[in-house]
Amino acid sequence: MDILGGITAATEGIKLVNELRKIDKEVDKADLKIRLVELADKLLDSKQALLDAQEERRELLLKIENLQEAVKFRAKLQDERGKLYVLNDAGQRDGEPFCNLCFVREDKLYRMRRHTGNEYGDPSYWCSNCRDEYFD
Ligand SMILES: [Zn+2]
Repeated sequence: MDILGGITAATEGIKLVNELRKIDKEVDKADLKIRLVELADKLLDSKQALLDAQEERRELLLKIENLQEAVKFRAKLQDERGKLYVLNDAGQRDGEPFCNLCFVREDKLYRMRRHTGNEYGDPSYWCSNCRDEYFD
């Protein structure tokens, strides 16, 4: 049950309580029992709506926390022509770069491999996931 359903159930329960207050002492006991059962149902619906809302709130808070962590982490990333470096707290590059293309496409970090270059090719970084090569 959603929050609106819970509010509706609580409102109907309050109406029932008000009706019960107005009931004459001479009222039929069977009618009174029916009204109490209706009231219990409305309270149960309200309780379920609150439990559902609590669970949804917990999930949303967890999502917010994860997004805040992701924003903090992304602030520590520095792109240099496709090579994605993670900066430490001092703003210095920390370790070998990751592939920015894969990070954008898959939201995953793949560490790039360094090729030191030789007579056949310049030094470069190579991503084992997308197989793109980035030169210094
Ligand atoms: Zn890649």
